[in-house]
Amino acid sequence: MRFGALEAGGTKMVCAIGTEEGKILEQVSIPTETPEITMPKLLEYFQDKEIAALGIGCFGPVDLDLKSETYGHILMTPKLAWRGYDICGYFRRNLKIPVGFDTDVNGSMLGESTWGCARGLDTAIYITVGTGVGVGVLAGGKLLHGMQHPEGGHMLIPARGDDAYQGKCPSHGHCLEGLAAGPAIEERWGAKGTTLAEKSEVWELEAHYLAYAITNYILVLSPQRIILGGGVMHQQQLFPMVREKVKQMLGGYLQTKELEDIDSYIVGPSLNDNQGILGAMKLGMDARKEEY
Ligand code: ADP
Ligand code: ZN
Repeated sequence: MRFGALEAGGTKMVCAIGTEEGKILEQVSIPTETPEITMPKLLEYFQDKEIAALGIGCFGPVDLDLKSETYGHILMTPKLAWRGYDICGYFRRNLKIPVGFDTDVNGSMLGESTWGCARGLDTAIYITVGTGVGVGVLAGGKLLHGMQHPEGGHMLIPARGDDAYQGKCPSHGHCLEGLAAGPAIEERWGAKGTTLAEKSEVWELEAHYLAYAITNYILVLSPQRIILGGGVMHQQQLFPMVREKVKQMLGGYLQTKELEDIDSYIVGPSLNDNQGILGAMKLGMDARKEEY
């Protein structure tokens, strides 16, 4: 049996076909323009592929409440052409197969919990640090939804005393995304993160903000593993700094076997950057079981 997967992003749409075992058979990338231009291209890709179901991991915020009239719609995104767009319904109507739907970061979390480094765990988080910051949460073996879905990337964070930067988030200024996403690094330091690898003060401050948020996620959610992905985390030197700062910030309050082996607790993704598309595929597989 074959399944379709769509990782819907603000700049590109990654489409794939794969199997129940998590094997990707083929994959293409289509630029994200307006729904009128992009959606027919996506439909054309999926429609003759004989897929049993489609899964979508989508940029957010999105409506995940199955009882809501706007379930499967994209909500208040700054990408205006997509605001209010019924992405899930478009595929349901046109493909007439079950469609699974969740946020892109919940998708990546699901990819890692199905086939990657969070396999067998009940509770874990996946954080992506790129153009924005997103946090996917697995809690009690399920992707966490509530009145909507967690928006941990916008956790409010006080600026560190030596950081005069005002923060880039239009809603909060100082939230994790406003202080630590790629565009915030670029605006604060006047250069792209990719060119700042040698500047240790950049990554020391970045690690401080990431550790601050992660410490709070640990205290609230008690994750058994924390996975950090996205473009900014290509700066591998962040990992040991984040681990050390998390330990300091926890102040010895929690003593667990996971924290004792913190190198295996705070880790990078394990699926060669396919965690998002594989997670989307699993959303499709689950939708077929539940016949959404
Ligand atoms: P997106 O979040 O748009 O899906 P990415 O995860 O690649 O894409 O994030 C892009 C952001 O990450 C940009 O702001 C970019 O400057 C930053 N970035 C990408 N690669 C690196 C790197 N190696 N080091 C530091 N910053 C990076
Ligand atoms: Zn914010």
